[in-house]
Amino acid sequence: MERTLAIIKPDAVERRLTGRILERIEAEGFQIRAMRMVRLTKKEAEGFYAVHRGRPFFESLTSFMSSGPAVVLALEAPDAIRRWRDLMGATNPAQAAEGTLRRTFATSIERNATHGSDAPETAAFELAYFFRGVELVEM
Ligand code: GDP
Repeated sequence: MERTLAIIKPDAVERRLTGRILERIEAEGFQIRAMRMVRLTKKEAEGFYAVHRGRPFFESLTSFMSSGPAVVLALEAPDAIRRWRDLMGATNPAQAAEGTLRRTFATSIERNATHGSDAPETAAFELAYFFRGVELVEM
């Protein structure tokens, strides 16, 4: 079993897509081990995306991520990191495969509906950023 950090980003929450995305998460076999709605401050968004500091889109991305509520989730499944990224699709919705969440719900490369950790080390950092150990419920 593996865990990954997923986020339903502010664009998707604002457009009332939370329920449809949660439905896909469960239908695809992920167990939701923790879930919370958060309103990130700019500083918290910058801390979360610290690896992207210096990229041209850092300012815009962190403003977007702190622009409204988001839903953070700890997802568990065999090979969860890769499987969740497969379900999300490519960063740019124009390049995302048919049926993926980003192809279906994203409106731009930035406002792309969902986030997922990209490696085990990133997943550990990102899960700890939002959840204390006791919040990850046992099934
Ligand atoms: P991810 O792992 O697929 O989320 O992609 P990255 O780690 O490369 O980028 C993090 C997030 O930054 C993406 O999900 C987008 O929201 C945003 N992003 C990535 N590339 C661009 C870009 O070229 N322009 C803008 N405005 N945002 C971007």
